[in-house]
Amino acid sequence: MQKTIEWENLSKLNKPYITVLRTDINILNNTGKYTMGEFVEEFEKECCKYFNSKYAIACGNALDGLTLSLRALKIPKNSEVIVPSNTFYATALAILRNNLIPVLCEPDLNTFNIDFKNIEQKITSKTKAIICVHLYGKPCDMDKIKKIAKKYKLKIIEDGAQAFGAVYKNAKVGNLSDAGVFSFYPTKNLGGIGDAGIIITNNKEIYEFARKARSYGGNNYRYEVEGINSRMDEIQAMFLLNKFKDIEKINEKKIKNANLYLKHIINKSIILPKIDENEKHVFYIFAIRCKRRDELQKYLQENGVNALIHYPIPLNKQPVINEKKTYEIAEEISSTELSLPCSAVHTKQEIMRVIKLINKFK
Ligand SMILES: *Cc1c(COP(=O)(O)O)cnc(C)c1O
Repeated sequence: MQKTIEWENLSKLNKPYITVLRTDINILNNTGKYTMGEFVEEFEKECCKYFNSKYAIACGNALDGLTLSLRALKIPKNSEVIVPSNTFYATALAILRNNLIPVLCEPDLNTFNIDFKNIEQKITSKTKAIICVHLYGKPCDMDKIKKIAKKYKLKIIEDGAQAFGAVYKNAKVGNLSDAGVFSFYPTKNLGGIGDAGIIITNNKEIYEFARKARSYGGNNYRYEVEGINSRMDEIQAMFLLNKFKDIEKINEKKIKNANLYLKHIINKSIILPKIDENEKHVFYIFAIRCKRRDELQKYLQENGVNALIHYPIPLNKQPVINEKKTYEIAEEISSTELSLPCSAVHTKQEIMRVIKLINKFK
């Protein structure tokens, strides 16, 4: 029996960075500072350089980053925020946490991203912002979304949690709107060894608000805004600074594996993801679609391949949201999507083994 191909192999991916960390960590014996110190600051600076942004605000995770960037917009309570119906729950939770109302908008079945054609019909006098999600690592059609936002005077926040390093028309996603948010949760393209997140912005007001709000809402025991506790650890920043140097390599490796799938999967019952010329898709997830998805997943599992589902329950059916309307596209995606192994440490042999199995699936 061959070794199972796991969806992800984080210990293999992170081993070299952990090795460096074992030495680096001794610096903490000199600084005695464990959160929000010089390493976090350096990481923020590196992110500004990478995204070509004025500001970067480190925080505890992307849910907090989304929560704070939304709060920084100072939009009135019970305002509506448009969000794709097929995103990960955290995007919607950031809206709920601010006493705002998530308004679900259907994605495009071909791109998995919010369909700009569906946005306008969701806009009311209460709509104040759109959170677009570069889902699976694929950039949203930002020009189209920005045009609508401009027409209706809406703010845009990009949820880039799955798209660190993705490029839309020569610019990195996350720096194409009022604010962009990234996650360093271990499985993400730039994954840490715990939780962490960052906000990218060129807006000074958002920057100043988020700087305060990530640390209860003020400084020197004087609190000006209602904040949260969302710090980044020095050890996390230390690890991420190191891995950051390899992010292009990591992304390129994922893209290479994705390209093998795109080139070699030949099976009429499989729908492959689409890539546009003017974008760099970083394949946090390599998402195929199949009518008999559950059967396919079981077949792969039985043959030593671990494929996952992102996500089995669409937002509208989440008990806390409990929308009465049906969301056909989101439901279609949640019942047909399958995520194939596509990490930076999967070998060509492993990917070819998955391809062979899929091509034999009848
Ligand atoms: C992972 C993820 C988040 C949440 O990130 P955390 O750092 O775990 O809070 C938000 N949105 C999307 C689309 C994600 O994939």
